Amino acid sequence: MLTTDILHIRAIDHHCHNLLKPDWVNNAAYTTAFTEGNDPEILKYHAYNTLSFRRSLRDISNLLSCDATEECITKLRQNLGIEALTTKCFTEANLESIFLDDGFLADYIFPWQWHQQFTKVYRLIRLEYLAERLFNSIDNFEVFLESFCNQLISKSPEVMGFKSIAAYRSGLIIESIPETTAKLRFQQIKQENKEQKIPLTDKILIDFLLGVALDIAAQNKLPIQFHTGFGDRDLDLRFSNPLCLRQLLENPRWKGVPIILLHASYPYTKEAGYLASVYPQVYLDFGLAIPSLSIKGMKQVLEELLELAPTTKILYSSDAHNIPELYYLGAKWGRHLLAEVLEEAVRSGDLTAKESLEIATAILRGNAKQIYDYLEN
Ligand SMILES: [Zn+2]
Repeated sequence: MLTTDILHIRAIDHHCHNLLKPDWVNNAAYTTAFTEGNDPEILKYHAYNTLSFRRSLRDISNLLSCDATEECITKLRQNLGIEALTTKCFTEANLESIFLDDGFLADYIFPWQWHQQFTKVYRLIRLEYLAERLFNSIDNFEVFLESFCNQLISKSPEVMGFKSIAAYRSGLIIESIPETTAKLRFQQIKQENKEQKIPLTDKILIDFLLGVALDIAAQNKLPIQFHTGFGDRDLDLRFSNPLCLRQLLENPRWKGVPIILLHASYPYTKEAGYLASVYPQVYLDFGLAIPSLSIKGMKQVLEELLELAPTTKILYSSDAHNIPELYYLGAKWGRHLLAEVLEEAVRSGDLTAKESLEIATAILRGNAKQIYDYLEN
């Protein structure tokens, strides 16, 4: 019963990414969207052989009514065109709104406004992307810092919060850095690199800027999403364990900032559940883990989150990126497995049927509405 009820709940996808312009999709292997690997050998061979890719091909072929082969699917999606394909995927996903982190592959994607033809669209500011752009165009530390703060304080109305990819840059052991130390480091890096544009990966600067962003988030009651757990090869998985965030979570200055751990922190899912159970400001999300794992793996992720974490702390997202099919797959499996896990909780005596429906609604939309101060209109 819950399985059918859950299909009618309009979901808020609070963490996802802009779609890539078709030229870029058509020139890349279709597997690119289904793996975190970027090595050609992974993309050309191994990525075809994951359980999730095999399953996803069949899911997409059912959606598009064609054979479950890459050739048929890619031909059909090109014939349909990106708008018709996106409409199909978003309609099936039954989304009330999406929150886009538009700092990923920023030069190749459709702008956030383009997505408004399909659903309501909000944005998240990717902190490290903003910092890197400013760092590469400003030589004076004070001007740099002021610009960074201004962009966060005078944010446009569609911005719902911030997103950090510190896990990709210098890891989640985020320390308090005094401004004088950050300034020295800024000048030193500028000197070493002269006019060159560089990726901003320095731990001192990133930790310092995160502290600044956390202060602004605290003053303006804005949540910050943190990439945790698995990701592509740039990531040192040891330092994307959410337990690394302890210093940040213990800092009383930032206690009022909702911290959302993305991707179920997979494989550190139980650790994430524990953090959400003891820190009032910690929330959890299961995007990317669903739809990237096997069915059993995705179900296990939901079970592990629900083992200990309060149900008021768990949020739905797809982490969809590049192609609209991922919005559809995230919603399909997110809903289906959430219903299955909650129905099992009813059977085993953890929940009543009424409670299970309330919890499904909270996870798919209610919790996001609360955390982001989301107003329906
Ligand atoms: Zn993401």
